[in-house]
Amino acid sequence: MKTQARVVVIGGGAVGVSTLYHLAKKGWSDVVLIERRELTSGSTWHAAGLLPLFNLSYSVGQLHKYSVNLYRSLEAETGLNAGLSTVSNIRLARTQDRMDEYKYYAGIARTIGVEVDFLTADEVREIWPLMETQGILGAIQHKEDGYIQPADLTQALARGARNMGAEIYRYTTVTGIAQQPNGEWVVSTDKGDITCEHVVSATGNFARKTGEMVGLDVPVIPVEHQYIVTEQHPLIMERRAKGLPEMGVLRESDSSWYMREEAGGLLLGPYEIGAPCCYVDGPSPQSEYELFQEDLDRLAPYIETAIERVPAFGEVGVKKVYNGAIAYTPDGSPIVGPAWHLKNFWLNEGHSFGITAAGGAGWQLAEWIVEGEPSVDMMGVDPRRFGPYAGRGYLRQKTEEAYAKVFSVHYPEEERGAARGLKRSPCYDRMAAKGAVFGTVYGWERPGWFAPAGYELTEADLDKPDVLLNENHAEPGADGKIREKWSFRRSNAFPHVGAEALHVHHKVGLLDMSAFAKMEVTGPGAAQWLESILTTKVPKVGRVQLSYLLTKRGGVRSEFTIFSMGPSAFYLVSAGALERHDHDYLEKLAPTDGSVKLARVTTQYGVLVLAGPRSRDLLQKLTDSDLSNAAFPWLTGKMISVGAASCLAMRVNYVGELGWELHHPIEMQNYIFDLLFEAGAEFDLKPFGIKAMDSLRLEKSYKLIPREMSIEYAAYESGLDRFVSMKKGDFHGRDALLAWKEAGLKNAFVTMEVHGVTDADARGSEPIYLGDELVGRTTSGGYGWRVAKSLALAMLRPDLAELGQEVEISILGKRHRATVIADSPFDAANEALRS
Ligand SMILES: Cc1cc2nc3c(=O)[nH]c(=O)nc-3n(C[C@H](O)[C@H](O)[C@H](O)COP(=O)(O)OP(=O)(O)OC[C@H]3O[C@@H](n4cnc5c(N)ncnc54)[C@H](O)[C@@H]3O)c2cc1C
Repeated sequence: MKTQARVVVIGGGAVGVSTLYHLAKKGWSDVVLIERRELTSGSTWHAAGLLPLFNLSYSVGQLHKYSVNLYRSLEAETGLNAGLSTVSNIRLARTQDRMDEYKYYAGIARTIGVEVDFLTADEVREIWPLMETQGILGAIQHKEDGYIQPADLTQALARGARNMGAEIYRYTTVTGIAQQPNGEWVVSTDKGDITCEHVVSATGNFARKTGEMVGLDVPVIPVEHQYIVTEQHPLIMERRAKGLPEMGVLRESDSSWYMREEAGGLLLGPYEIGAPCCYVDGPSPQSEYELFQEDLDRLAPYIETAIERVPAFGEVGVKKVYNGAIAYTPDGSPIVGPAWHLKNFWLNEGHSFGITAAGGAGWQLAEWIVEGEPSVDMMGVDPRRFGPYAGRGYLRQKTEEAYAKVFSVHYPEEERGAARGLKRSPCYDRMAAKGAVFGTVYGWERPGWFAPAGYELTEADLDKPDVLLNENHAEPGADGKIREKWSFRRSNAFPHVGAEALHVHHKVGLLDMSAFAKMEVTGPGAAQWLESILTTKVPKVGRVQLSYLLTKRGGVRSEFTIFSMGPSAFYLVSAGALERHDHDYLEKLAPTDGSVKLARVTTQYGVLVLAGPRSRDLLQKLTDSDLSNAAFPWLTGKMISVGAASCLAMRVNYVGELGWELHHPIEMQNYIFDLLFEAGAEFDLKPFGIKAMDSLRLEKSYKLIPREMSIEYAAYESGLDRFVSMKKGDFHGRDALLAWKEAGLKNAFVTMEVHGVTDADARGSEPIYLGDELVGRTTSGGYGWRVAKSLALAMLRPDLAELGQEVEISILGKRHRATVIADSPFDAANEALRS
């Protein structure tokens, strides 16, 4: 065994071996993989091998697409057949919402180049003659989809990696991992130590145990997953004898199971409600090819619906039931990317569709390690999308929920019920009493919108689809009332959100943004360091500035609002969802000579946003500071008193109205909240939620990460020209951005008016066409109440980014005429903000 290598990959399942293969493919041949038993002796061995392309996450969709293409080429490259069967995949729909989900998905698929066909029930039956069609509204089909033999796939990747110089050490267990003062890692095994530059953890169900070795609480806990294989069925054998094609993979989404042919019989895999998490403390040291006792009671309801749909399934005996551990994260997507706090420690864990994702995840992670950046926007799988709140208790609840909802309708505004109420700002109860319907971000509860007093949906309103598992609304509140029905179209919240937005525009509203990520950057080197990494100079003392951290390639990694508290003291605010992500980047880039100090202060300060034309009159009643425009202009900040409480008031907001963000010691929040509402009665102060904020920001063409800004778009493509100062000297990504521009920008950020919308606005990820040509994708969309227009923000081919250009946006499968309009359709001159 080597004692020195560039990278050590831990774990010889499909995911680890693919990472090794791709590192070698990138030219790093001095790479090794360590596996405690035989390759595939973890989860990979008992996987059913399905390769579903369907995924509503942009990041995961890209990874899956890459995998399927790679698996096709492996035999030619390695000489090993991985058992790929391209038999197609059909997903059935029994409800209108499910059809909407498919239509929404088909748009996303179109933008990433995945082919999807729509089928009628009769067309499905032609392909799957063993199936009954009752209740089927339609289906989608991926012709490219199929399944593979997971162990053969892993062996093919292993041979490919070895051919390129990588080494694999089997029957070798990693027992410890430690970073040396010089940054190198020492990976200790039962066969000796290996010193390396980078470590990749790809240890499947052992992820938490591996994490413990380096002090990481890895947000992964496995859940039990079962599938049943039947004896051979005469009808299937007859089809085979006649040389008829395999019927393909059938997914009865609304009953939460999949089925395919297996060796002349059938294989049924349900995602059951009540499947328990397992290996909470990791598998035992002896674990190898491990399966659990099957639980037939849990399978019974799914077997019943399977027999109803495919009677043949009930006509033959069960050959074997597999019950194995499948790794889950709280949102069901894997964690692929850098570990927080640790340099050169990488995670490729939490894969619940790891056979499907292995190719793509290995490819992008290798790119990240070797080139310093992935080329696909990996925000949807970044390990830092969860924070320290995602500990064991949270994970137990969320992973079981993620498993049970694999087949649920993934409504864009769905807010899941497990582990709710975990992170509450102090004004939570007050907001609840005002009718808040909460959503979550990064574990925080945040008002999404406000229902009028006594508002409640009836059973009839809810119009629950006739399905086994899925609900179209949040769990009832403490009062037993249900207030929101989710939809891909305008939901029942639509008019209430509109009323909130217009109230902010005409009067004054209050929004809780305590979830914002906050950091203080201080020290003699602070200003210089920030300017060396961000796209702008730091603001003058007392001023506020938007600034960006770019990737090495010139894409956009993070956005910060910077307030200059003093010449060497800065307060940085960024998106709540990206707290760990943004702070991790700053920490890893910070100088180590003690000239700069970083303090994470997210939970120290709450944020209340007061916005609207009456906000000055209201706030002036509570403070002795002069709030006049002359004394307190737009984009400045000051410490002010609100009654007896001290706040940092910044004259900025994300809604385009006169207003202040009040950053306050979080323990004073309710004091401030009460004062504002007492004084606010005279001005008709009302709370507003994140949905109204989103509508208001669309009308200002304000951008979000990872929608209008992402690592895949050059900062210039996202229209950030005025926030990128080329004159100020070097900064992170500067030269690469210039080179990108030189090579030619492929996208242009635009704002569009969408015509003829009656019930479904764009949401983001819809394809944009000129005739039949795909010319862009939307990044956000919704209704703008102040301008009374359906709006979309989009990335469009640059030659089409002219005012008045007409294109078509496909929303839920229906083409809508859309016109490029000037950015900031509401108040382009910022008169309200400056007033
Ligand atoms: C019943 C069932 C059906 C499934 N069906 C599908 C499907 O149809 N399609 C699909 O895409 N996915 C499916 N999956 C999921 C799939 O099996 C996993 O996502 C995938 O195998 C994960 O691969 P991995 O490489 O991450 O983990 P694993 O295959 O578990 O590999 C991790 C490896 O790390 C090794 N290891 C751990 N700790 C150490 C250590 N300290 N030192 C050395 N080695 C270590 C382990 O021995 C193990 O071999 C299914 C899972 C189950 C349980």
